[in-house]
Amino acid sequence: MPTILAVGIATLDVINTTERYPAEDDEVRAIAQRVARGGNAANTLDVLAQLGHHGRWLGVLADDADAARIAAALTERGIDYRHAPVCAGARSPVSYITVSRATGSRTIVHHRDLPELAAADFAALPLDGVDWLHFEGRNVAATRAMIRDARARAPQLPISVELEKPRPEIHALAAAADVAIYARAYAQATGHADPEGFLAGMPCGGLAFCAWGADGGWLRRGDGTLHHEPAWPPAQVVDTVGAGDCFNAGLIDALSRGQAPERALCRANQVAGAKCGQEGFAGLARLLGGA
Ligand code: ADP
Repeated sequence: MPTILAVGIATLDVINTTERYPAEDDEVRAIAQRVARGGNAANTLDVLAQLGHHGRWLGVLADDADAARIAAALTERGIDYRHAPVCAGARSPVSYITVSRATGSRTIVHHRDLPELAAADFAALPLDGVDWLHFEGRNVAATRAMIRDARARAPQLPISVELEKPRPEIHALAAAADVAIYARAYAQATGHADPEGFLAGMPCGGLAFCAWGADGGWLRRGDGTLHHEPAWPPAQVVDTVGAGDCFNAGLIDALSRGQAPERALCRANQVAGAKCGQEGFAGLARLLGGA
């Protein structure tokens, strides 16, 4: 199975489930709470590890108690994080997430004051044995330098970038990647209400994908043609936290094994749909066993 290197953040997620999303100034009681390791790139690797891939993670770790939990969760999945720099005295990023039982939607408040990963940290990481390289689209200047470095050291290594939020100059990351994966939130934040119109205008050096919640996902091929695959809705939507990260994992799972982009889009919806039907990520491989 391919080895996937993902560069991004790892967080601690504190996830409260409420009957419905509270109004401002409300005081409500959570009907369930769980604490889990989060962060987009780390979540994607978690799912890829369950699907049999070898995962490597690069990002900054703090050295507090939350960082120990994050590291333990990575170890549990066999994800190699030995090159992750540790920032002494820093606090781990935490995402406070409210999941509405009524709709399955998730609302996130993220706190972070950890320094960003530097291009020098990436340069110190050996790329031998890596079959696929995935970046979170953040920390734009440094990530651009990392992509340039990867292209110089390993010209054949396929590179994907996740674009969740528009940031200055972020289009340069999409243009430099082989695969650009846009979130619906990105499209909406740039004023697009439909994924087709959005994807048609987006820069990408190769394939571009866009996840669109219960409507599944879209693909723009290298020749500019568009393709849609419907979602794989679970019997009941229970928890959509990290659905986008699972979508990314499904894409990388299929593409890194040489499958066609249309098939990869189908796989992405399948993995993400399965996730929406359960809390958290554990046991997804079993659920997808027959896929
Ligand atoms: P994000 O986690 O970025 O908010 P989306 O809401 O766009 O991501 O969902 C990502 C993917 O998860 C979708 O493309 C789809 O495959 C799946 N998904 C999300 N919500 C549902 C749903 N209600 N039913 C079925 N699949 C869903």
